[in-house]
This record gives sequence, C-alpha cells and structure tokens, in this order.
Amino acid sequence: MVTYGQIQELVNFKSEDVPVVSVYLNTDLRQLTPDEIRLHLKDMIQERKKEVLNQQLTHQQEESLKQDFNKLLTFIEEEKIPEKTRGMVIFSCSAKNFWQVYRLPQRVKDALIVDPDAYVRPLMAILNQYHRLAFVLVDRRRAQVFELYMGEILDRSDQLSDDVPGKVRFAGWYGLEEKRVMRHIEDHIHRHYKRVADFIWTLYNQQHIDYFILGGHPHELPDFEHHLHRYIYDRIIERVDTAPFAWDVNKIKQTALEIEQKFMFERLSKMIDVLITDAQKGEKAVLGLDAVLNAANMGNIRLLMIEEDRVLPGYECFNCGYLSRTETTCPVCGTPMEKMDDLYDEIVENTVNFNGDYYQVPKGISLAEYGGVGAFTRFKLEEK
Ligand SMILES: [Zn+2]
Repeated sequence: MVTYGQIQELVNFKSEDVPVVSVYLNTDLRQLTPDEIRLHLKDMIQERKKEVLNQQLTHQQEESLKQDFNKLLTFIEEEKIPEKTRGMVIFSCSAKNFWQVYRLPQRVKDALIVDPDAYVRPLMAILNQYHRLAFVLVDRRRAQVFELYMGEILDRSDQLSDDVPGKVRFAGWYGLEEKRVMRHIEDHIHRHYKRVADFIWTLYNQQHIDYFILGGHPHELPDFEHHLHRYIYDRIIERVDTAPFAWDVNKIKQTALEIEQKFMFERLSKMIDVLITDAQKGEKAVLGLDAVLNAANMGNIRLLMIEEDRVLPGYECFNCGYLSRTETTCPVCGTPMEKMDDLYDEIVENTVNFNGDYYQVPKGISLAEYGGVGAFTRFKLEEK
C-alpha cells in the first residue's frame, strides 16, 4: 500500500546534483498486453538514454543514470502487472539509493523524464483524489484497525493487545462482590476503549487518515465513541454492525471499498451539481468538451471533472500546447498540430501543468449529459 510516509519521502527527496529518472507508464490491461507495456517502457528508455548520455555528465551522474535504466529494465521484466493497476509511476536515483514504485488504479500517460528533481505533479494530482481510510472494529474486549488507500488494505492492529477479564467467577457475598467485580470489568473496558482511541489518534496524526469507519455491536459503539477525540468523531463516515475478528480481511476490505465508493459518489454528485448550477449561472465553471478545451487553452482550469474511461482522439500543438478536437494547424502559432490518441489525457496534463486538480468521476453521475467533462475555472470569461 502507498503509505503517507512513502509520499513524504518522495516530496522531501533531494537528489542534489544527481538526476532523477521519473517514469509514468500506462499499464491498463484492458487496452494493452503486458508485452506491449514492457515494450513501451523499453522504447522510452532507449530513446532517452541516447539523448541523456550524450550530454556532459560527471562520472557519478552517468553511473547513476545507467544504473537507473538497468534497474527499470529488470523491474519491468519481473513485474507481473496486476489486473487492477491501470498506471504505474516509478522514481529512481541510484546514486542516492532512491527507488519508489506507485501502482495506481488510474491510467497515466506514458512519459520518461530525466531531471534534477523527481517529476511528481501528475502523481500528486492522482493521489489527491483518494482518501485514506481507517476501518476500526471494536468490542468490549478486542479491537482491530485497518488502513485503506487506493483500494489496498493494511492491518495496523499489531500494536493493539488487551486483556480485559472475560468470564468472572462470582465468589463471596453475592451482591457486594458482584458490584466490585462489575466495577473491575467496567474499568477494564474503559481502559481498553481509551487505549484503542489513543491508538487511532496516533494513527490519524501519523498517517493522515481522512475518514473512519467503525465496526461493532450497535449497543456498544456509542460508549466507545465517547472515548474518541472530536476530530476523529467528526470523520466517521459509517458504522457497521459487526465485531472484531468476525470477518476475514477480504470481507473487511470489500465492505470498506463499498462504503468509500458510495461516499465518494455522493460527494462527487454534489460537486457536479454545483458545477452545473455555476456553469448555467455563468459563474466560474464550464461544461462540455468545447468549453473545457477553451478553458484549458487559456490555462484557466482550477478543477477538472472528467468521467472515467472517456477516450477521444484530437490534436495538440507541440510548440505552444494548444489543444483542439479538429484543427490541424495551430491557430495561435501556426505550427502543424500532432494527432493525439486521447484528448482527455491531454486536458488532464494541461490542467496538472497549470497546477490545477482533477477528479475522475464514476459513470452514472449527471456529468454524462455534458459530454462527461466540466471544470471549475480560475477566472470568468467576459461576454463578447
Ligand atoms: Zn501552437
């Protein structure tokens, strides 16, 4: 799973004077065979290697790059591309022992960049779309905590172990002793809940958890929730009737994914509603491919909303970046335009280059009526 720590490591990474190789690879097995994917990377490496190694490099820089390219070739030969991985991003800087791989549930556009800094912006735009969730299963004796991100799950329960007395034999003067024993158990439960709550608080701070799902018996959960920090409590998106160790990890993951999907669907639906209303009122929003292209060509996209799996060929000017559905000569600079496989990919790239964000929107949201694409813009266009 992509951890918060891994992302931090990337963001904070300084290669100093050694170049970093950043690879973006489309690994969508619905479009490509594994061999085609491998070939794409090998071709990019061949092409860049010649170019880069012809430049004036220090011995260290050259050795590091050669190692980077070799590592990448070995990696892609050995990698079994998983069905659900649609895109892969890899960073390598051998001289600094830096190597990171991101397997993503979204397609990325093939690219291989050699630069003093890691090329992180398109990756960050994808990561920003996903939430980090924790699924906390708790009863009066036990607890389990799982972290979920981009469809993957990690068991975080290892630091959680308790010993709440279970069966208690009543002895001595019945009424009196029972009360004492009950208080003893209540104490234990209270301490157990507090320990779990503290653990979640630490996890929240260390891993930057966005939302929480609670699993437990409905008659017990409210008591547990009293122990939670306000910030955690406010981030609970669902409560599920189950118990710790009642489900296997697959069932936990499946349940969490369904809850997350539903949550995201509702959130995105609301955003699209706002987008449509704003666009209709002539506020800072546009709908449909032509209006979005227009906004992209002005660097005016703040937040792009795009329906998943849309593909449409188009044209791009490699000189100034102008995008068009049909024009073959750039109206801005007069350069002949290049034919591109997918205009939507280019709009995403344009958005990210201008520091905008994007959301891939699931099918079934009202955006489909507007060609599956819309955007919140930075500025409003004056009516002519
Ligand atoms: Zn141009």
